[in-house]
Amino acid sequence: MKIAFFSTQPYDKDFFNQYNDAFGFELEYFETQLNKQTVSLVENAIAVCVFVNDKVNASVIEALAASGVKIIALRCAGFNNVDLAAAKAHNIRVCRVPAYSPEAVAEHAMAMILTLNRKTHKAYNRVREQNFSLNGLLGFDLHGKTIGVIGTGNIGQSFCKILTGFGCKMLAFDIIANKDLERMGVEYVPLIELFEQSDIISLHCPLNDQTQHIINEGSIQLMKKGVMLINTSRGALIDTNAVIEGLKSGKIGYLGIDVYEQEEKLFFRDLSADIIQDDTIQRLMSFPNVLVTAHQAFFTGEALTQIALTTLKNISELSSSNNLSQKAALLI
Ligand code: NAD
Repeated sequence: MKIAFFSTQPYDKDFFNQYNDAFGFELEYFETQLNKQTVSLVENAIAVCVFVNDKVNASVIEALAASGVKIIALRCAGFNNVDLAAAKAHNIRVCRVPAYSPEAVAEHAMAMILTLNRKTHKAYNRVREQNFSLNGLLGFDLHGKTIGVIGTGNIGQSFCKILTGFGCKMLAFDIIANKDLERMGVEYVPLIELFEQSDIISLHCPLNDQTQHIINEGSIQLMKKGVMLINTSRGALIDTNAVIEGLKSGKIGYLGIDVYEQEEKLFFRDLSADIIQDDTIQRLMSFPNVLVTAHQAFFTGEALTQIALTTLKNISELSSSNNLSQKAALLI
């Protein structure tokens, strides 16, 4: 049984090849993104394995169904890029990896906060050039600061635990409160209060109709002057132009993003010799208080191991019509 992989990077091959022995699938890797133009590459595959920026819309799903594909396996947690209704209509099962390592993403969000605050990336370069001055490197104590967390699922929960350890006051907003977090002292508040009271706001909710541009001109106006915004979730949670205005006015004091609304044209590629046509990302990267990483929050050995094992297990169970052992993995 063949699985066709899209948006494949060398590390995907390493991990999937390593763990496939126990499953015995034929693995076919394509570097290209899955979209309307590339779907014709799929031949005799029972499953396609896709990642965050593959475009699995209705027309792609129709073509996949016509080629005999029965399973769309996301090797990630978010699934906003798959038209689930179209998959259902074509009787294609869709599964994902719901929680491969929430800690990997939460720890990266923490790394962004510490980098933006204590400016270790600038200190590293300075000291290597024998510039031992501290001017411009002033930070603040995290201890005692108020952190607003939007979305307290797997990743948000791990993030709350880390920040609680730093002695922060934790505010949260979610459509469902997590009782364990409440017992730990995390306080669920209306979104407006979270915007008004937080020194740092970190996004850990999925991208959907309710959350698209949850950070916009109106919500930025409610925030404290100098607020730090962290987004390791999905780019379109943020209205990038509104955030640029917030950075220009000083309302936003720090921005850390691991995801970007137009990232599919940029991220996971080496474009160091290219002329970047996206003026918005160039403007963002021109601010001294903005840190951009290229969707690397998930990128730990532990996470890649879990991603490979869970994805292969999902496909194995679905293709042999066993019930999928982890219910949350099955989307359709
Ligand atoms: P999860 O499903 O465990 O948690 C999501 C939480 O968001 C849930 O508690 C849910 O109730 C809440 N939520 C849903 N709608 C909401 C709304 N309108 N307002 C507030 N909260 C809402 O998901 P997770 O594993 O914690 O992942 C969160 C997101 O992180 C994913 O959807 C994905 O987009 C992103 N992610 C990014 C990376 C990366 O490498 N940067 C890796 C994995 C996941």
